[in-house]
Amino acid sequence: MDIAIPGAFWNTKKFPLIIAGPCSAESEEQVLRTARQLAEIPEVKVFRSGLWKPRTRPGSFEGVGEKGLLWLEKVKAETGLLTTVEVARPDHVELALKHGIDILWLGARTVVNPFVVQELAEAMKGVPITVMVKNPIIPDIKLWIGALERINNAGIRQLLAIHRGFHYFEKSPFRNAPMWEIPIELKRLAPQLPIIVDPSHICGRSDLLQEISQKAVDLEMDGLMLEVHENPETALTDAAQQITPETLKLLLKNLILRKRTGNPDFENRLEALRTEIDKLDGELLQILAKRLEIIDEIGDYKRDNNITILQMKRWAGIITDRLSIGTHLGLDEQFLKRLLNLIHKESIQRQTKIFNNK
Ligand code: PEP
Ligand code: MN
Repeated sequence: MDIAIPGAFWNTKKFPLIIAGPCSAESEEQVLRTARQLAEIPEVKVFRSGLWKPRTRPGSFEGVGEKGLLWLEKVKAETGLLTTVEVARPDHVELALKHGIDILWLGARTVVNPFVVQELAEAMKGVPITVMVKNPIIPDIKLWIGALERINNAGIRQLLAIHRGFHYFEKSPFRNAPMWEIPIELKRLAPQLPIIVDPSHICGRSDLLQEISQKAVDLEMDGLMLEVHENPETALTDAAQQITPETLKLLLKNLILRKRTGNPDFENRLEALRTEIDKLDGELLQILAKRLEIIDEIGDYKRDNNITILQMKRWAGIITDRLSIGTHLGLDEQFLKRLLNLIHKESIQRQTKIFNNK
């Protein structure tokens, strides 16, 4: 991707980029009052507000639409904050550009659909605008990168990614599981692409925002997008996750910003520890490869003797035994279960292949 850091409005080295504003624009007064309060927080650079809301079911509040663009024009003129809205259809792009919106963003529901992303990319073609692309709802990094590439191919160079968590079936305190490994992998694949974290949609509730915002900063993410409402309880959308401008001020004040690199002593010690990790990972992989080789041998043996692959009693025994050893070694039980299941799945797959090769 050919990406330029949108340096015109933000210096990541100083403080993460802070984008704040209500989930939805509800009235001109609500938008302007919130923006005025946010403009008093020096770290806040961009005012967000949803005008066209993607709602799960029809009949809920679906946003104020086009008239909200006039309110955002006023926000910009009065406070100097940059403005950003979600665009989900080409006519949204056209209208937002007409009203001088500075940054467009693509929502999580839009990014799952390459046809729609392509249409939006075409509507933006050749326009010197900044675009933020949220991750798709499902944890598919290729879909996320694909959307970024489509926008980038339309000539948009000022691109940012927004990590807003992923839909996840297992129980979790979060509305959308953070799955940090995915934005970290995106950072590895596209190091020049800034990643903004959206703690509001990850958490789904305001009491977890500080923790997730801190985690984002600790993982060297480049900014935060937080939903702020003048009176969260009365918000028409996402009431449980919104905070007041006052609470945002406190959250930012409590953020601990860490240095990205340390002094030579620190670096040397870190390097030594990392070398140790590299060596252990090598050993771990060798042991794993050896284990799978023996699995193949067992597969051959079972096949030649016409015995089924999955032997429940043996597997149940392995689980009990390994959980006991692992937990005694201080490993987390849930982690162990996931790890053992992963290894077991791979073993079954390899044996199935052996059986099919007969
Ligand atoms: C939003 O930012 O209000 C929104 C709808 O988010 P997402 O697309 O991440 O669900
Ligand atoms: Mn929202």
